Parts: sequence; C-alpha cells; structure tokens
Amino acid sequence: MPTLVHDPASIDFDQPGKHHYQIAFHLDGTWGYSLLPLTLIKGRRGAAESNIICFGGTHGNEYEGQIAVKRLCADLDPDVMAGRIILIPQLSESACIANSRVSPLDGVNMNRAFPGNRKGTISYRIADFVKRWVFPLGRVVIDLHSGGKEGAFPICTSFHPIPNRAQQAETARVAQLFDPPFVMIYASTMASGLLTDEAEAEGKITIGSEFGGGETAGRHGVRHAYEGMLNVLRHYRLLEGSAESIRPAGAPGPQLARADRLDHYVPCPRDGVWEPVVDLGERVNEGDLIGRLHDFSDHSSAPFEIRARRGGIVLMMHLSARPQKGQTLYVVADPVDWSELLG
Ligand SMILES: [Zn+2]
Repeated sequence: MPTLVHDPASIDFDQPGKHHYQIAFHLDGTWGYSLLPLTLIKGRRGAAESNIICFGGTHGNEYEGQIAVKRLCADLDPDVMAGRIILIPQLSESACIANSRVSPLDGVNMNRAFPGNRKGTISYRIADFVKRWVFPLGRVVIDLHSGGKEGAFPICTSFHPIPNRAQQAETARVAQLFDPPFVMIYASTMASGLLTDEAEAEGKITIGSEFGGGETAGRHGVRHAYEGMLNVLRHYRLLEGSAESIRPAGAPGPQLARADRLDHYVPCPRDGVWEPVVDLGERVNEGDLIGRLHDFSDHSSAPFEIRARRGGIVLMMHLSARPQKGQTLYVVADPVDWSELLG
C-alpha cells in the first residue's frame, strides 16, 4: 500500500528507489480527504539529463493517461534507471472517481486551476501543491489527456507557441517521441490556468496531448501514451536505449499542424443534431463540407451546412451528435513544416 502523507515536507524526494504515496488533501465540506496518488522513482544509476514529471487524470473522464501512468508506476525499475521521475496517475482524484471532467467536490476544472491557491477549494490546493512541491522536481512536464465527452481528436501531442526558440525546438522534439500521427500547436488564448501554461511559463519542456476521447480507453491511445513516455525516459537518459517507433513500420512521421489563433476554433452556430462528413485528420479545402446540422423540429427542413472556413487538417470535431450553440464544433489546423521549429 502507498504511504499516507499529510505534509509533503515529510517526503524525501532525493531518496533512491521506488516509493508510492497518497497525499491527503482535506475536504472542504466534510471530514475526510482526497488521497492524491504520487509515485517517486529515483534511479540507482546516477543522474539523468533532466528529471521528468508525468500527470494523468487532470480531467477525470480521460482514461488513456491514467492507465499509462499507473502502469509506469508498476513497471519502472529504479535499479536500471538514472535520474528521477514523479508519476501522478490521477491528479484530480475526485474527478477520476466520479468519471467527470471537473471535480464534484468544488466544480473546478483542474486544468484551469493553476497556479493554484493554498487557501482555495480542493482543486486549487492540489494545483498549488503541484506548483510549489512537484514542479521544482523536474524540468520536463508531460500532461496526458484525451478528449473527454466534448472533443474528438486524432491521437496527438501538443504545445503552445513559445517565444524562446530553444525551448520551442526541444519541446517539438519531445512531442515527436510519442510518435503520434499529429502534433498540434494550440492557442494559449483559448483558456487560462492550464497546468501546461504554468509549466511553460517556468521555462519547462511541456507537452500536452489528446490520446482518445468519449470516456473510453482506446488501446492505441494507451500504447502511444505508455510507450511515448518510455521514449521520453530514453531521450533524457533515464533509461538506456534510443526512442522506438510506436506506429507500424512505414507509417509517415508525425504531421505538425498549427491552430494557435481563436479563429481556428469554430463555434457551433446553432443547436442541432451533428452529422460529420469528414474524418479526423483529413485534409480539406476552404469551402469543403465538414458536416451538417439537422433541425428535427421540422423534419422537412434542409440541413444547415457547415463548410470549412479555411483549408487545412481537421484536428478536432465535436464528439457528440448534440452540439450546442457556441460549443467548439471543429478545428481546421494549418500544416506546418518541422523545419520551422527545429531549424
Ligand atoms: Zn483533458
């Protein structure tokens, strides 16, 4: 069983070996705790190039990351490792238990709660713990997500545009290590308070991701998340060996695509029943039909056609058949050559 911890100051983060903890965060409304799972693994083969922090379950109803991180907690062997990794498989533990995007304890989206607040509700206090106790332990931060109930994505890793070119280039290289079909540069103006925002602002190499969606646990997404993390450990010399392909031999390299402005994220113009007519990852031209919105209050009415406002790659579509007016309906991203970032 993990060791119960009430005060993170009681953890020796420099001790070698593998150590499982549950960090107790007191509840706001009743006596009791949310028990945050955290595994510390410090290799016995000396230092690594960089130490690593990996999160799953920042959103509770996204499972590929939770499973991949839990498996890493069990599988990684400190005897053959260098450096240190911190693994947190269910960051919003209460949301994970509830199969919910946000915590049912305070209604807060953990991925909007950063940098946290030590006197705030439980999600803010957990974010504050990450900011003050966990971020100092690693230079590379990986946050494993899936689309939840809202968005359907092809398997992708992601990062924001970063002004520092060296940080941007290293981030792009690490995003490739998950061997996803797509790597997305996403808009930092869509939301604030993200875990990745905070880590990037600290100058860390920070990767977001979408490994599935629909509250499922897709085997391909779990594989990319798990084996991609092994590649990250190899890349920074925590594990020996070089990065390995995850997709079948002959698969093209990851396609880089940019959706870094708000006008890439097209809102649904009206309520309706959504019928997509393209696939995720498909290339479209400006004006191409993306899908149709049906109004069943008059079944004789023509569908409302949704046509691409720009050419590019369909990197996201609303997952359910019932988008509401204002919800993001689709994203068509601009293809980008890797040389633009990698030089
Ligand atoms: Zn998420």
